[in-house]
This record gives sequence, structure tokens and C-alpha cells, in this order.
Amino acid sequence: MNKLGVHALVWEKGWSHDECARAIANSAAVGYDLIEIPALDPRSIDTAFTVKQLQKAGIGATSSMGLDADTDISSNDRDKEKRGQARLEDAVSVIRDLGATHMCGILESAFQKYAAPTTPEGVKRSCEILARVAEKAAASHITLGLEVVNRYESNILNTASQGVEMCRRIGAPNVKVHLDVYHMNIEESDIGQAIIETGDDLGYFHTGDSHRGYMGSGSIDLAGVFRALVKANYQGPITFESFSSRVVGQPLEGILGIWRNLWEDSHDLAAHALSYTKVQLKAAHEAQNQAKRSRLV
Ligand code: MN
Repeated sequence: MNKLGVHALVWEKGWSHDECARAIANSAAVGYDLIEIPALDPRSIDTAFTVKQLQKAGIGATSSMGLDADTDISSNDRDKEKRGQARLEDAVSVIRDLGATHMCGILESAFQKYAAPTTPEGVKRSCEILARVAEKAAASHITLGLEVVNRYESNILNTASQGVEMCRRIGAPNVKVHLDVYHMNIEESDIGQAIIETGDDLGYFHTGDSHRGYMGSGSIDLAGVFRALVKANYQGPITFESFSSRVVGQPLEGILGIWRNLWEDSHDLAAHALSYTKVQLKAAHEAQNQAKRSRLV
């Protein structure tokens, strides 16, 4: 069974004690199994306080992050690579202390619009450093999910097949591909086929819609997406990610280009996404069962 999660930015833009307590309590009240906590600045998270809130609410956590220009492990600049590895290792420690299972997001490069393509040497350096980080993560049973994003947010992983190839090159069993339907809608030729071809390498999944607002109110064929996830026998977390200028602040607002209010009511949005996801998953499983039920007598 897939654990269903919600990104903390649906509720709060920061992680002060009050924001942390509200985001976790609200995620649990709606009925989610887990909350995805952003760790762009891992050391700013009060892990003991967060764990207490998670225990009180009875839900789990995953975490996501992205490197920046100064910590870019694909930059071929040894100082930036060193800082990048340290940032990733800090995040692993924080995620271990949170008791979280997955560390995902743009771990392979800076989270930004690049002005030039990556280089073979940059990809090689990124793979080498991620292999080292993966070893530390494995000791705490943490899976790394390399997020495949659109061309305006990274220049390394823009398609699922590139993600699979990068996992092969890193060669660690706890490094998986993290797919996101919003990005796939921009870059993939066939979203369903890309999910199925990622297969066992898929380790984390973000749902949403074409404008990152209410699920089902955009232009993505979400029924097809959930059928592909079921066909691929994907068992990992499915997390709803949505951004509105109602909640998000800098620096994410600027990096992601969140200029308008896609929604006003976090609770209504999150409750709708959870029921929509459950209905789509149920329908996709029933679609699989049709073949068995429809054999010629
Ligand atoms: Mn995402």
C-alpha cells in the first residue's frame, strides 16, 4: 500500500515551532499518513520538537531539499562540491533524527534555472558524491530520491530515463528516481509510459496538476497517471505537492515562479487531494482487475 503524504508548503511557509505544530496537526487531521518537510536549510529544523509533534499526531515524515549555486555538486568546482556534500550529509543527519524514510528533491544539482547545459564531468562528480551520501543514508535506512524536474529548475535530470541512468551510474540500492507529475507534464513524451519504464527504480512520487493547484482542475490525464503507477506496481510514497502565493514565501516563490493564488484554503485543498488520490488509486486497481473478471467463460 502506498503511504499518502502532503507537502508542508500546503500549510505553512516556514518551520518555526508554531508552523511545525500546525502543519503536522493539520496533515494528520485531514488523514494523511505522512508530511513532507522541506529541508533546504537542514540545520534550521528543530528535530526533537518536530519528532514530538509527529508522535503526538501519529504520522510519519519524509523530507525534500535542493542544493543551491554555492553547494552545486555538479559544478566541477571542488569548493562548491565540498559544501554540497556537507549540505547533503547534514540533511541525512536531520532526516535520520526525524525518523524519516526518504530524502528527495533536487539532490543532484543546484535547484535553479541554469544558463548552460551540464557537462559529462559535472554529472560524473554529482554521481560520485551522491554515492558517498547514499552510503551514509543507507546506515540510517534512508532512501534517496533524485527528483526529475523541468528544464527551468535543473540541467541534469529532466526526464525519467535520465533519472534511471543516473541511478545505474551511482549504483547504490537506496538511490531511486523521484518523479513529479507537474514536471513530467512539461518534459515527457508519454507520462504513463515513462512511469512504467522507470519501474522498480521509482522510489518517490509527487502528485499535483499542470498549474500546481487543485488535483483534477488542470490539464493532466491523472487517471492515466494512476493507472501507470498501479501497472508499475509502485508501492512507495505518493505525496501531494501544491504551491500558492497564499502560503509560499522566498526563496521558493522566486525559484518556482509562484506568482498567483491557485488556492486560498489549505484545508480544503489538502482534503480534496487526499480523497481524489484515493479514488484514482481505487479506480486504477479496479481497472487492473477487469481483465481477470472478463475472461471468456
Ligand atoms: Mn516535486
